[in-house]
Amino acid sequence: MHEMSICESIVSVIEQQAVAQSFTRVRRVRLEIGPLAGVELEALRFSFDVVTRGGIAAGSELDVIELPVTGWCMPCAGSVEVRERFDACPDCGSYQIQITGGEELRIKDMEVD
Ligand SMILES: [Zn+2]
Repeated sequence: MHEMSICESIVSVIEQQAVAQSFTRVRRVRLEIGPLAGVELEALRFSFDVVTRGGIAAGSELDVIELPVTGWCMPCAGSVEVRERFDACPDCGSYQIQITGGEELRIKDMEVD
């Protein structure tokens, strides 16, 4: 389950931030996750609870903001939102889309004390 190692790296980022910004308690962590990140949200929440236990982020809320998949459509010469990697352009129906977003997995912000 790679969600566990994802959460471990999230926690190490949080701990670095805690030192840098001298906070001692994390109340809420907001993550931005793209559909192409290959993360199972239920597993992620479970892992987060396990990994944060006993640490600075123990008992904190995990908010997940799901980002869209975005791509650059050649015929439209513009950025479009699609549902998945090999989707057609919603505007022109073309499959000549270069995916530009949707693989994100990052901490957007945190509420801390
Ligand atoms: Zn198009």
